[in-house]
Amino acid sequence: MRVTTAFNRLLGLPGASVIDVGFGSEGVIVTVRLRRRRRVCACCGQTGRQLKIRDRRVKRWRHLDLGSTRCVIECELRLLRCH
Ligand SMILES: [Zn+2]
Repeated sequence: MRVTTAFNRLLGLPGASVIDVGFGSEGVIVTVRLRRRRRVCACCGQTGRQLKIRDRRVKRWRHLDLGSTRCVIECELRLLRCH
């Protein structure tokens, strides 16, 4: 079984897929990607290609520890331009 598949099952994050797992100084870094590629405004819920990507930034969340090792979820989020 691939390690990404194992982490997908282990973490069971809704709407996100594990694309990489690595070790960093903080512990295990699990990189995920949102399954939904469609652009949706987080404020008003508007969708569509007219929402231009203003910026991309990587967000991190601490997940439950894996034994004595910290587990950090990392995901690149797109900031959209919306009226
Ligand atoms: Zn909006």
